[in-house]
Amino acid sequence: MHPELGIMKKEENKYTIQLESMPFGNNDFQYVINDSFFGERDYSEVKSGVVNLLLNVQKLESMFILTLNLEGFVVLPCDRCGDDYNQKIDSVAKIFLKYGSVNDIDNDDDDVIFINKNENDFDLSDIIYDYISISLPIHRVHDDESLCNQDVIKYLEENKKRQDEQEAEVGNPVWSDLMKQLKDKLDN
Ligand SMILES: [Zn+2]
Repeated sequence: MHPELGIMKKEENKYTIQLESMPFGNNDFQYVINDSFFGERDYSEVKSGVVNLLLNVQKLESMFILTLNLEGFVVLPCDRCGDDYNQKIDSVAKIFLKYGSVNDIDNDDDDVIFINKNENDFDLSDIIYDYISISLPIHRVHDDESLCNQDVIKYLEENKKRQDEQEAEVGNPVWSDLMKQLKDKLDN
């Protein structure tokens, strides 16, 4: 095949692997997940990032074992200050592609995907997206508060101080009442 044609074909099926024509044993692939990948997904909360994916596919008689190594970062809004920050991505996932149908399931393992015997092209993009999504932390913040937008942090701190002061004022009558009772007791 002409080398240029090879490149074109790879571009078209960017995250698709060919199961049937793949040799038995270990096969390694490398992908870069970037803004256009996230941009193609309207529902994606991630809009940009660069994640390197090293994919190993072990082809066996009855199944394919996929090991995904995801490493890089995605851009997310910080829960603390609202500015964007780079969330580190570093995760490994293992997926089993087995010949058969969902009806054959005797366990409900999430990491097992059933495929048809005559299925050749297997698109990985949804799987890649899912694994990036589930690797995101619940609490999404800059690594350190010093990296946050300091104007926002200052505003939040002032707001909190004002709230504390208000609470202290509300608490004051109770305190002065106790002081009065104590004073009366001492006077008697
Ligand atoms: Zn922040």
